[in-house]
Amino acid sequence: MNIDPRTVILLAGVMGGIMSIVLYFMRRNFPPSIRGLGEWAAAPALIFVSLLLLAARGVVPQFFSVIVANMLLLSGLSLFHFGTQRFLGLPTSIRLWVAVVLLPMPILAWYTFVEPHYGMRVLLISFLMTVLTSSNALLLARHGARSFATYLCIAALAVQSLAQMLRFISGLSIPADSTLFILSPAQQVYATTYTFCILMLCVGAVLMATDKLRAEFEHQARHDSLTGALTRGALIEAGERELERNRRKNHVMSLLMMDLDHFKAINDSHGHLAGDQVLVDFVARVTTLLRRPDRFGRFGGEEFIALLPETSLEDARIVAERIRADIASAGVQPWCTVSIGAATSSADDATVDALLARADAALYQAKAAGRNCVRTAA
Ligand code: GH3
Ligand code: MG
Ligand code: MG
Repeated sequence: MNIDPRTVILLAGVMGGIMSIVLYFMRRNFPPSIRGLGEWAAAPALIFVSLLLLAARGVVPQFFSVIVANMLLLSGLSLFHFGTQRFLGLPTSIRLWVAVVLLPMPILAWYTFVEPHYGMRVLLISFLMTVLTSSNALLLARHGARSFATYLCIAALAVQSLAQMLRFISGLSIPADSTLFILSPAQQVYATTYTFCILMLCVGAVLMATDKLRAEFEHQARHDSLTGALTRGALIEAGERELERNRRKNHVMSLLMMDLDHFKAINDSHGHLAGDQVLVDFVARVTTLLRRPDRFGRFGGEEFIALLPETSLEDARIVAERIRADIASAGVQPWCTVSIGAATSSADDATVDALLARADAALYQAKAAGRNCVRTAA
């Protein structure tokens, strides 16, 4: 089967161009916390222009169809690499771009104008493209989420880098007077895999970005935006799951209900922002005092809940007392104390709500007893 390389090159460019538009609109509509989309959108656009120039070899001057075209091609791949680094929250470096895109240009110019040699140019460019694509694949394999989208990108980059390697090996035997449009089996494999890879890569990038957006939304829905503790809904959901699991294993689960003492006075005398900071610091301190399987959430206002799986009432009281004492001795200003009500699941507690009601009653007793103390539900 003979494929016209010019058609394949153009096709690859057009596909990349379309994906570039898709990624550009995602960048506009997605929150700025999803980084790297701008680079991912610009990369296929640069590659598109580069492929147009490559396909125009013989029509436009060699400076454009060889030097500028390859510079744009390598810039596109470096930019995609940048995008991946930013998407993964890794530091980016302009040095990579200088090393891969600018430094080889004099060599490319030498083998174009001074001592024209197509094979040497293929060796140079395919080597650099192998380095760029494989390092991008490694980056995703090392730091990317374990998801279909990441694997799709890694696969596209791995196939692309294998094709480049094949092209590099074939470059060793390309005669000096050959051109881009003389078909060799290696050229054919390279051109066709390139077309599919760029499409797969962009689809993978789109999927990775939407996966990340979904994860961000899920996190936002489950965590309180001020303190980072679980939301009431997420906490009750976790509570029901834990209660069921503990019941199956014949364990009891405890619940602590905490309420900051005279918190309104902090708002009144220091302002709402200072009050907010007390809430944030309170959550940070309590989180360090809990074990790994424990869950901590904001029930509303200045009320918080800790779920303690596989914990007896006596152990829950000890944890609560530790929290109360730690908060009472914090010493930062403004600050306040905390009252805690503890309850443990019993055979009658079919639901988290029943457990909550008993912890709430114990908390009420703690408030009535003068605050800054722990009470347990019978
Ligand atoms: P008690 O010891 O009886 O619990 O007294 P209290 O003042 O802590 O209780 P009260 O329920 O009267 O007041 C709770 C206050 O918490 C009132 C409300 O303005 C404040 N509050 C609720 N949510 C927030 C918040 O997100 N930030 C700040 N700064 N204040 C909040
Ligand atoms: Mg209070
Ligand atoms: Mg309250």
